[in-house]
Parts: sequence; structure tokens; C-alpha cells
Amino acid sequence: MITYSNWRYRCNGFVGNWPEPYLEVDGDGVVIEWNPRAEEVFGWQRDELVGRPVTEHLVAPVLQPVGATIGAPAGSDPARLFDPGVVSASAADHQFQLQDRAGRSVTVAGRLFVTGHGAVGSVGGFIHPTSGTVRIQTADADPAATPEQIDPLTGLDNRARFEKRLSAAVAQSFGLSGSVGVVLLDLDRFKAINSSLGHDRGDLVLSMVAQRLEGVAGDASAIARSGGDEFLALFQSPDGRAHDRASAFVERARQALSEPFGVNDTEVFLDASVGVALNTFGVNEAGVLLANAESAMYQAKDRGGSSVETYGESMRIELLDRMSTEHSLHRALERSELELHYQPVVELDGVTTVGMEALIRWQHPDQGLVAPYRFIPVAEESGLIIPIGAWVLEEACHQLRDWHHRESSGARGSVEVNLSARQIDDPRIISTVEGILARTGLPPEQLTLEITESALMKDAASALVVLRALKEIGVLLAIDDFGTGYSSLSYLQHFPLDMLKVDRSFVQALGVSSEGEEIVAAVIKLAHALGLKVVAEGVETTEQLDVLRSFECDLAQGYLFSKPLPASEIVASFGLPLSA
Ligand code: C2E
Ligand code: MG
Ligand code: MG
Repeated sequence: MITYSNWRYRCNGFVGNWPEPYLEVDGDGVVIEWNPRAEEVFGWQRDELVGRPVTEHLVAPVLQPVGATIGAPAGSDPARLFDPGVVSASAADHQFQLQDRAGRSVTVAGRLFVTGHGAVGSVGGFIHPTSGTVRIQTADADPAATPEQIDPLTGLDNRARFEKRLSAAVAQSFGLSGSVGVVLLDLDRFKAINSSLGHDRGDLVLSMVAQRLEGVAGDASAIARSGGDEFLALFQSPDGRAHDRASAFVERARQALSEPFGVNDTEVFLDASVGVALNTFGVNEAGVLLANAESAMYQAKDRGGSSVETYGESMRIELLDRMSTEHSLHRALERSELELHYQPVVELDGVTTVGMEALIRWQHPDQGLVAPYRFIPVAEESGLIIPIGAWVLEEACHQLRDWHHRESSGARGSVEVNLSARQIDDPRIISTVEGILARTGLPPEQLTLEITESALMKDAASALVVLRALKEIGVLLAIDDFGTGYSSLSYLQHFPLDMLKVDRSFVQALGVSSEGEEIVAAVIKLAHALGLKVVAEGVETTEQLDVLRSFECDLAQGYLFSKPLPASEIVASFGLPLSA
């Protein structure tokens, strides 16, 4: 049970720092608490009010006498509200009139708590102005933008001005939850448009996007370009319905962007990932709102783009979870908690192993063996994938050397290592690979680097440069998870690839749908036409294997042959028929 002194103790400090106005009145109607935020909003200073009857300045006969006006929480005995030593923290939402320091009458809404008992009993709670002269203004009252607050490309506000407006909106919101909303809209795959059309046309597309967004701005208080291909919109709603306004805008904006953009004689199709954040009880700072909108936008991107996410409690928990994963991942390398498992790549005779794919695992001290999908995205986001990826490369190359040394018969297998997009973006990748090959003495053609189709296409032009440099070293290159990204076929032929790995989802369709089979057959033909070897991923049944054989697929990988295994369990006959 919470005692009164306990409650008061908790209030001190807590109430003082709270971002919403707080008022508390004792059983005799005397003000005992008035926090700094209330001073800001209503103009009355704490020492003008505390110790004086609430009616003297603040008016509000509603608050007097306390017991009668507050009313009992549903189902309780009103007489028991002031039981000795008991705090009844259950209370209803109330509306009443206050007077601000300028003498204006303000309707406030608040959730009031009855606290304490008898003579020391009090009633208090957080209060928001809902109408009256102290009201939420829109940021339109801002002075006109100065030239340095304008984005020269689009004529929209720039980020600095948007932040200013947002801060003002937050300050004017008086902490009323849901009265300020931020929309962050980031174009999907815009980098690819820039690299294929050139920057000038890319800029043209951006200014057309800006025009369309302005055209559907509706009741937005501000629209801005925050830099690159990112746009911001601000919504204010004195009745706490900023979310509705923001959602309606997002709907209109996506509709507007779905029409193709004509750039000279080319049509460009765009989509966007959108994050929405709202001010709430505890979130009342422009910087935090922007960061939340950004987190929500990245969440939308993670889902493959073209979607909308609103920052909320479940996202907060997910972010905390990610942060804790990141935290323990930092030490996973030092503590040797990471290990590699290997899965054979076999010829379609089903017996000859030609390579091993290295697949990372995390032996977590509390959670046991953790699969890559649980931590690779976190490692990519935090940049930890760079040292982790370098470790994977070195470890896999060492392991292969070790196997080769033990094979007196002259093993010919290679090792396949997955690279993430972030590693491809890192200029050190070339020297990392060279260094590891030199240290381990592995011939470069025995190392295959796998890059997923979506990582390649994220920024195809830059990836091309890096792939060519890797090819110079002499390593082999494979495009992984083929069929899940958006390859442009014209690009594919420019990449110096050796191998194409057909994604498991297509292999699983074999023997199930004829359409699925046709796709796989076509992909294999295409790959062969481009001079690539084809590996079918995730082969689980002999039926799938038979179909793949009939399509003249070259290689396969899957549970039918072997699951990924720790190095120690890999059959000693690597490089020779697996089960001869
Ligand atoms: P991937 O490179 O496409 O690897 C194939 C995945 O399919 C592996 O999952 C493998 O265990 C699984 N698999 C293989 N055969 C079968 C099958 O017959 N049936 C089914 N259902 N699954 C099969 P895993 O090990 O969980 O790895 C998932 C992904 O994580 C990999 O996909 C790769 O993209 C990534 N990854 C793994 N290790 C690394 C690494 O060291 N670095 C990076 N950047 N990514 C890695
Ligand atoms: Mg792979
Ligand atoms: Mg794959």
C-alpha cells in the first residue's frame, strides 16, 4: 500500500521535472504543488500560489470542496477516499476552468488523483489546457523564412528551419499527447535512380517530389526537405489528433508519388518508406520526436520499403532489444562467442563436394546458439559487421587451409563467405581480402565471396566498382539469394560474377507449381547465357533435385545433402565424394 508520505516523497523531483503542468491542492483547497512547467504555461509562479487558497488566483470553484468535486472512483465508497494513510490513486479525467496570470480563462483537462487523508488529504494531477486563450497555436505564426533557411533545390524549408518550427510546436503543445506529429518520408532506392540517371536528373526528380508533396500538404504546418531524398512534414492538432492528420497526409503523399515521374524521355517510378512520431506524455522534445520518426522510418525500410511505421511502445521495446543485442555483440568477438558452421556445396551427381559455405553462429552465454538473422542486421546497422566480417573471412580461409593440409589427395574445394552490403561499401574491403589471402596463403580462386542480390542492387554503380577490384585479386564472386531483389538484367551482365545462387523460395516451388518451375528454368538459362554457374539453394527433396537435374543446374546446397555443421563434424573426405 502506498502511504501518503511515501507518495509525497515520490512526487518531489518527479513532479518538478515533469514536462506537463502539475497542480495539487490539499483538503482545505490550499495549493501545495505547482511545478515549473505549470509556471510556464499559466504564468503564475510557484511562490505566488503555494500556501494560498486555490480560489485566490486560479479560480476554479470546481476544486472546492475537494472531496465533493473529485467524486469517487467508480465502484468505491466516497467516504473511504480519505481513509487514514491510504492513497487512492484512482481518479477520473476532469475538466475545469483556471485563470492564467493574464486573467484569461482557460479550460483545462486533467487526470486528478486524490492523495492522502483528512486534513492533509489533497487532490492533484497533470493538467492540459484544452481551450481558452492559452491555446496551441500553429507554427504559421512564424516569421518568414530567411534565405539560409530554404532548401535551394526544392524551395521547401530546410531541416534547420523545420527543427525550429517543431520546437515551437512542441513548446506550444503544453504537453498534450498527440498534439504534434512528425512525418519523415524517405524515398526508396533513390541512390539507384541517381546512379542510373545521373545527379542532374536525380535533382529534377527531387524537386518534382517536393512539388507533389506541397500539393497534398493540406493542413500540414510545415513541409521541409531534410537533405538527400528525405522529406519532413509537421502536424499540429489542439485536440490531440495529430496522428489522424499525419496519416491522412501520408495516404495522400503516397498516392501522389505513385504516379510515374517523367524525366526527359524516361519514366521513373518511386516509392517511399515513412516514419511517423507523435508527442506523448513523456516525449516532448523536438530532437526526440525527430529521432523517433527516423527509427520508425528505418523500421519501414527494414520491412523492404514502401511502407509506413508509427513509433510506439512495441517499437521502443524492439529498439531496446536491438540495443542490448548490439551491446553484447560488442563483446562476442573478444570473448570468442562467434563460430562458423559449414554447409557443403555439391555437384548434381549428389555426391561430389566442391565447396563449403561458411555460415556464422553466435554461441550466446544465455541464449545458446543464435542464428544470423537475429544479429546480422544489428551488426550491419551498428557497423560491427566490419570487424565481424573480417573475422569470418580470416577464420574460413584458415579452416580451408587446414582441411587442404589434411587432405593428402590434393583437395580442390573452395570456401564461400557471405559479405554484407555494409562490407561492400567499406573501402577497406579490398585490402582486408588481400591481407587475409596473404596471411593464410590461400589461392584466391579458392575463395568465393557471396553478395545478396538486394545488397548489389542497393547501389549498383558503386558495387560494380568494388566487385571489379575484388575480381582483380582473383577471388570468385557469387550473387546470393537471387530472385528476391530487383535486379536489372542489363546491370547483371556488367558485374564480373562467376556464380548465381537461386534463392531457396524458388527451389521450394519445384514440383509444386509449374509457374515456379518455369521461373527456375528461365533463371538457369539466363545465368548460363551470362556464363555463370548456377547453385540451387535449400534443396530438401530428391524430387527437387530431379527437376534441377533436368534443368541442367550445376550445383546444389541443402538439407538433402547436409545441414550446416561445425568444422569438427565435417566429414574428413572434403573434396572427395561425400558419401561414396
Ligand atoms: P545464405 O547465405 O543464403 O545461406 C543459406 C541459408 O539457408 C543458411 O541459413 C542455411 O542454413 C539455410 N539452408 C541451407 N540449406 C537449407 C535447406 O535445405 N532448407 C532450409 N530451410 N534452409 C537451408 P543461415 O545459416 O541461418 O544463414 C542465413 C543468412 O545469414 C545467410 O543466407 C546469409 O545471408 C547470412 N549470413 C550467414 N553467415 C553470414 C556471415 O558470416 N556474414 C554475413 N554478412 N551474412 C551471413
Ligand atoms: Mg550465402
Ligand atoms: Mg542464399
